[in-house]
Amino acid sequence: MRVERHEAVVVGAGASGLWAAARLAEAGIDVLVLEKTARCGTKILASGGSHCNLTTTLDAEAAGALFGKAGARFLRHGLRLLPPEKVRERFHELGVETVEAPLEKIFPTSGRARDVRDALSGWMLRAGAKLRLECGVRSVERHAEGWLIAPERGAALVTQALVLALGGRSYERTGTTGDAYAWLAALDLPLVEPVPALVPLTSPAAWVRELSGIAVQGAHARMLDAAGRQLGERTRPVLFTHQGISGPGAMDLSEHVARRSGAARVLSIDLTHDLSVEMLQQRLTRAAQESGSGGVARVLNQELQLELPRRLLEAVLAQAGLAPDARVAQLARDKRQRLVAALQGLAVPVEDTRGFDWAEVTAGGLALAAVDPGSMEIKGRPGLHVIGELLDLQGPIGGLNFQAAFATAQVAASALAKRLRKA
Ligand SMILES: Cc1cc2nc3c(=O)[nH]c(=O)nc-3n(C[C@H](O)[C@H](O)[C@H](O)COP(=O)(O)OP(=O)(O)OC[C@H]3O[C@@H](n4cnc5c(N)ncnc54)[C@H](O)[C@@H]3O)c2cc1C
Repeated sequence: MRVERHEAVVVGAGASGLWAAARLAEAGIDVLVLEKTARCGTKILASGGSHCNLTTTLDAEAAGALFGKAGARFLRHGLRLLPPEKVRERFHELGVETVEAPLEKIFPTSGRARDVRDALSGWMLRAGAKLRLECGVRSVERHAEGWLIAPERGAALVTQALVLALGGRSYERTGTTGDAYAWLAALDLPLVEPVPALVPLTSPAAWVRELSGIAVQGAHARMLDAAGRQLGERTRPVLFTHQGISGPGAMDLSEHVARRSGAARVLSIDLTHDLSVEMLQQRLTRAAQESGSGGVARVLNQELQLELPRRLLEAVLAQAGLAPDARVAQLARDKRQRLVAALQGLAVPVEDTRGFDWAEVTAGGLALAAVDPGSMEIKGRPGLHVIGELLDLQGPIGGLNFQAAFATAQVAASALAKRLRKA
């Protein structure tokens, strides 16, 4: 069998693969990148509404904390090596100026995701990495000299350093079809079931879907299970849709729905910007005394300045068991309590996610316990490194997932450069 040899092979020319290949090539390593589709960085092009939220304003520690306990521990070294400000610096050196945006986001000043993708692919090619497009990999297996890679076309490849950067399986049309999960399973490696995450949610309730188009800024959202136990919380905008509920506040909590598809879940939304129960009760009582004839809607919006759209307000009143034209003066204590409860926790029933076709990322993947966080090498599989979204590592919306892709790529490339004695 004819085989081609390279010091390092990177599978997947997405965010993490491009970064790793550029770094490896800079270190003087002969690196080949194999990409299944006809172009690199397709997800970068689609990201952030084609503006690309490439990292975060948060520092390394705060960014890491958003990956959960295990994720934060795993990323500690990577985020120290490549904190968010270093990502910005690197893009500045590559000619991409960046700008801060609300909710801790960083975008290219041009607003063009293409600039980010072109900067990464240009950096990689100038550094000397070789790129083979439309060259998907079918399988990888151990080989006496390291790893044997079977691409869809051309000769088989042998390398002592194989970097898997195939991403997850969301937005399959961008090339990420989850091919590597089977390879990892065949190598007896532990996988956490891949499920859609950062994905809009569906609701079985007609009243929710009828609110389609209404957005609530700065909503404190909590995902509850059927017993009312809190599974997660996040303060971010939410958006009612024809199918249910979306927006970062809902999408950031979607993994809890995907993990038990079909199980009853409730997204409880605080519409009061975290006013305390006492404060709300007090203000409603005062409003009842001062403007007794006022409708609840007017009092909530004008005196409490909640600025709730009419349809949303009606939904709150319905959940509290009040008529749309209820008057504050008529509210007995128990009704006021019900109103406060509905305002602080509008219970939106949730059924499922919209699936991988609408998911910004895949939660799950290669279990972190199988990976050395100081090199991204798989324990007991010398020369095999896994980076980016293929790992069981996902952050919320806000540039965190690109940041993790870049940081894990940097770790793998630095470790490999040292190992191949070319650093
Ligand atoms: C619509 C959308 C918007 C997003 N917006 C943001 C955002 O603004 N900020 C943010 O931080 N994150 C965002 N994300 C998430 C982010 O894009 C990913 O987390 C990130 O791209 C993961 O990088 P990666 O290198 O692991 O994988 P990817 O970037 O997905 O790259 C994987 C590459 O591997 C290739 N590949 C797959 N199988 C094979 C094979 N068998 N052989 C060869 N090549 C293969 C794929 O074609 C692809 O090019 C968004 C995602 C989506 C879908």
